[in-house]
Amino acid sequence: GETGAVYEARERMSDVIGASAPTGVREDNSITLADGRVVRLSLNADDAETIREHGLHHRVSVGLFRTEFLYLRDTSLLFDEKRSVAAYGEVMRAAGQDGSVTFRLLDVDEDKFSAHFFTKPGNRGLRGADYYRAEPEIFHAQIRSLFQAAIEHGSGAELRIMAPMMRTPEDWQFVLSALQAEQERSGYEGPFRAGMMVEIPSALFSMERMQQSVDFFSLGTNDLLRYVIGKSRSQPAPDDLYEPAFYRLLFHGMRRIKREVSICGMMGARVEFLPLFLELGVTNFSVPLGAYETVRQRLMSIDPQQRMLRALLRMQSRAEIREALQS
Ligand code: PEP
Ligand code: MG
Repeated sequence: GETGAVYEARERMSDVIGASAPTGVREDNSITLADGRVVRLSLNADDAETIREHGLHHRVSVGLFRTEFLYLRDTSLLFDEKRSVAAYGEVMRAAGQDGSVTFRLLDVDEDKFSAHFFTKPGNRGLRGADYYRAEPEIFHAQIRSLFQAAIEHGSGAELRIMAPMMRTPEDWQFVLSALQAEQERSGYEGPFRAGMMVEIPSALFSMERMQQSVDFFSLGTNDLLRYVIGKSRSQPAPDDLYEPAFYRLLFHGMRRIKREVSICGMMGARVEFLPLFLELGVTNFSVPLGAYETVRQRLMSIDPQQRMLRALLRMQSRAEIREALQS
């Protein structure tokens, strides 16, 4: 299938750069930088198959599992908890005994839309916590299924659940309370981490406060960038990635953060941005299968002491920023 084709492409790419792991040896997903700091390299995935294939050669860490695609492929899972437990169980097993998966709660948006996600047409414009408040049955059924799957099919590895489209401490508190309530009801006693995506500009203004109860943040640069520049996702221009205000906003949000900060947006898969995200404090890079090997190679050779942020924050044009990042 399509996933296989992507995987083969990656394999060919690693042959070219001589980086294939010897048969039977699986690469760890942590990378020690030249200065001794350790970062994690993770995978973005929408299905168990991709994780299984990746797991043949790597210890698996999935930094973003887009659960909405399970439901888009089979909308009956939305209200069928038995089968959704089985579906999540398959994903957990695909990650292997020593693997971990970060499950993102259902993220409804224009680019991953199904009328089945809404019990009332009037809810179709809602996103993130507003959507969860308006569709509590779907929201709670998903969380219950995740804990139940970890009980029935988990390897004992950390269960990580993250919420998309969080704007405020209030949004986060709403999600966290639901997670805690369902965890308690389920009786799940294994390790659990609750995180949130940072992909709406307002979230960057309260990260410091939210880190008291957030186990990890994950930068959703795909949405964050488009909201900063006021653009739809369907018409990106290559130059958008160098928008000065985008970097000032990121710096503002991240400068006092002690928690894990991951990146799962596509910018984390582009090697030109890696030094900057390292300087901003990102310690976990979650990238699509096709970019995994390239990013791994780059992280291993990068000079982690490179400093560019200060200069970048003063720049006023996209052209200047592009030049600074590409030089
Ligand atoms: C993002 O917005 O950057 C992200 C990783 O999530 P998605 O692309 O699924 O919206
Ligand atoms: Mg997003």
